[in-house]
Amino acid sequence: MKVECIADTRCILGEGPLWDEKTRCLYWVDIKAPAVWRLDTGTGETKSWIMPYRVGAIALRKTGGLVAAMKPGFAWIDLDKGDVDVFARPERSLPDNRFNDGACDAKGRFWAGSMDDMETTPTGDLYRLDPDGQVKRYQAGFVITNGIRWTADGRKLYFVDSAARTIWEHAFDLEKGLPGPRRVFARLTEEDGWPDGLCVDAENHVWGAHWGAGCITRYRPDGTIERTIPFLAPNVTSCCFGGPDFETLFVTTARIGLSEGQLALNPLSGGLFAVTDLGIRGFAANRFAG
Ligand code: BGC
Ligand code: CA
Repeated sequence: MKVECIADTRCILGEGPLWDEKTRCLYWVDIKAPAVWRLDTGTGETKSWIMPYRVGAIALRKTGGLVAAMKPGFAWIDLDKGDVDVFARPERSLPDNRFNDGACDAKGRFWAGSMDDMETTPTGDLYRLDPDGQVKRYQAGFVITNGIRWTADGRKLYFVDSAARTIWEHAFDLEKGLPGPRRVFARLTEEDGWPDGLCVDAENHVWGAHWGAGCITRYRPDGTIERTIPFLAPNVTSCCFGGPDFETLFVTTARIGLSEGQLALNPLSGGLFAVTDLGIRGFAANRFAG
């Protein structure tokens, strides 16, 4: 196994890595810059686009371009034209909230969680954006929603309550698009930091990022720990598989919340890391069907 920082981007809050297997590009966001980043693994070029609002999560659209969960709501992003079009504002009545993590389910619906930007009030809920543009809300009442990824068959959903240091596992009704009964998948201790973003691999194991503990844990499907990989950045935020045959684990990190001393010791914080030679594969991210 090899771990390296492949883009020293110094993101404030790097998040949401997303592999596009058609263009061999890795997209991610800096929620608080705010910006969308892209690394073209063919040319090695890294590029960023400043956004008009905080951007929590992005997903690829089947028709091209991106759908995003931004501070004011759901938006289309066309990076080529530089267009950002907010078309739904489900949390208009919660001005202190913003959207955070999100992804598409196997039927092409886009899901995103919200949170109190000050990270104190349990106003974070889960939203589903349908391909026809309709939005539905599922009450969660978390301070910080995270995770929101499925197994390859789309029938199990992982949803993270970061402040409560809990990763929940839900049965997921793919046809109806409904999270079912939940059970605790993993609970972290204070030493483990806070559970942040995650991804699932082709063997149905879960890779969970640890905010505040500088590592990623690979969990077996029953929630027991299979391995832990350390990074030279205390705030590890999220990960996804991509690259040739989905064999590279891309990992985002953040600088926010770190002291001058921590930043001096971990100067690559905020960068994009890659883990290779794992001998483990992921699978393609679902695309938004609208
Ligand atoms: C949020 C951060 C938060 C962190 C904690 C991230 O997803 O965007 O604001 O501090 O989770 O786990
Ligand atoms: Ca996150």
